[in-house]
Amino acid sequence: MQTNIPPSILATPAGREANDILRNCVHCGFCTATCPTYQETGDELDGPRGRIYLIKEMLEGHSVTQTTQQHLDRCLSCRACETTCPSGVAFAHLADIGKEMVEQYVPRPLHQRLLRKLLLAILPHPSRFARLLAFGRLVRPLLPASVANRIPPWPQADDPFPNTNRTRKILLIEGCVQPALSPEIDAATAQVLDKLSIQTLRTGQAQCCGAVEHHLNAKEASQQRMRANIDAWLPYLDSGVEAIVSTASACALEIREYGYLLRNDPDYADNAQRVSDHCRDLIELLEDENLDAFRPNQSTRIAFHAPCTLQHGQKLNGRVERLLITLGYELTPVADAHLCCGSSGTYSILQAELSNNLRDNKLSALHAGQPEMIATANIGCLHHMQSGTETPVRHWITLLARDRR
Ligand code: SF4
Ligand code: SF4
Repeated sequence: MQTNIPPSILATPAGREANDILRNCVHCGFCTATCPTYQETGDELDGPRGRIYLIKEMLEGHSVTQTTQQHLDRCLSCRACETTCPSGVAFAHLADIGKEMVEQYVPRPLHQRLLRKLLLAILPHPSRFARLLAFGRLVRPLLPASVANRIPPWPQADDPFPNTNRTRKILLIEGCVQPALSPEIDAATAQVLDKLSIQTLRTGQAQCCGAVEHHLNAKEASQQRMRANIDAWLPYLDSGVEAIVSTASACALEIREYGYLLRNDPDYADNAQRVSDHCRDLIELLEDENLDAFRPNQSTRIAFHAPCTLQHGQKLNGRVERLLITLGYELTPVADAHLCCGSSGTYSILQAELSNNLRDNKLSALHAGQPEMIATANIGCLHHMQSGTETPVRHWITLLARDRR
C-alpha cells in the first residue's frame, strides 16, 4: 500500500513502524471475511482493512473524528485478521499505534472517561477487585439477572496447593482477576504439575501482567507494571526456574510481548526479552509430558473454545484440543472456531451489545454438538461465556486435576 505520511510523523519510532506495517498491506481484504466485528455490523470500517485505512488517513494528516475512534474501539484485538492475512500484516501493533493516536485527537465524553478510569482503578489491582467481587457476591440475589449472571458464585473451598520440593520448577503468574474469580485453576495447575514432579512457585503477590492498562491506552502505567513484574520475576529465572507460566492465555500473550513493548527502553529491553523468551502457555509445558495419570475413567463430551489469545495471538491453535483427545475426552465439532467469544478484557463492559452478540453466537456454535461441558483456556472467556449458559464452562486444566489418579 502506498503511504504519504509527513516527515514529522515518520521521524518518530511509532510513525516509522506504522508506515512499515501499512506498506505490507496489499488491501486484498481476505482478513475482512474472518473479522468478528465486520461479521456483526457489515460495515467495512468495522473490519481490519477499513481500520487500516482509517489509521493510514490519520497518520497522513486527514481529519480524525469520533467515528474513527468508534471503529477502532470496536476492534476486539482478537488478531483473527493476522492469522488470515497472507502478507503478514502486524495488525495488532498497528492498531495499538492508531488507538493511542486517536486518543490524542478525539476527547472522549465524560461518561466514557469516568468508566475507563474506574476500570483502571479496580481491575489491575487484585485486592481491590477481590473486595468488589466479594461485595457483588453478597448482594447478587438482589441484582437483576443481567447483572447477577456476570457475578460468579463463591468458589468451592480452596483446593490444596502442593508445596513439595522438586528439581524442576516453574513460576506461575497469577494475574489480577483470576485469584478472586476462579482460584481453583491455579490450584489445579499446581496439582497436575506436582504429579509430573514439577514444582509451582508463586511470587506471593498477585500482579496484573499489564494487559488491562495496555488495552485501555494507559501506556505508561502498563509499562511501569511490566517493569515491576520483570524486577520481581528475574530472580526466579536467575535461580533456575525453567519457565514463566500463565494459565490465562491472554496474560501469557501479554508477557510474550514484553520484549516488543519495552524494546525502546534501554534499561529494560534485554530483560523484557528474557522474560518473554521464558514465557510458556500451560499447554506448551504439558503437551510433551507423559500424561497417562490423567486419563479420565469415563469420557466427557467437551466443546472446546480456543481463546483468540491462544489461537491467533500465541499461534497455539489445536494444541489443547489434541491433548484432550489423546487423553480420551470426546471433543464435539465447533463451527467458526476462529471467531472471538466477545470477552476481550474490558470489551465486554465497554462494547456490551457487540460483546453479548458475539458471546451468544459462540455459545450456539459450542452447543451444537450437545456437549456436557465447555472448556477453554482463559479466565475472561470462561466467565463471559458462563454468563450466557447453564452448561458448565471450565478451564481445561481443571479436568486433568479432577481426573488424575
Ligand atoms: S489480508 Fe492482510 S494484506 Fe489483505 S487487506 Fe487484510 S491486512 Fe491487508
Ligand atoms: S483484531 Fe479482530 S476485531 Fe480487530 S480488526 Fe482484526 S479480526 Fe477484526
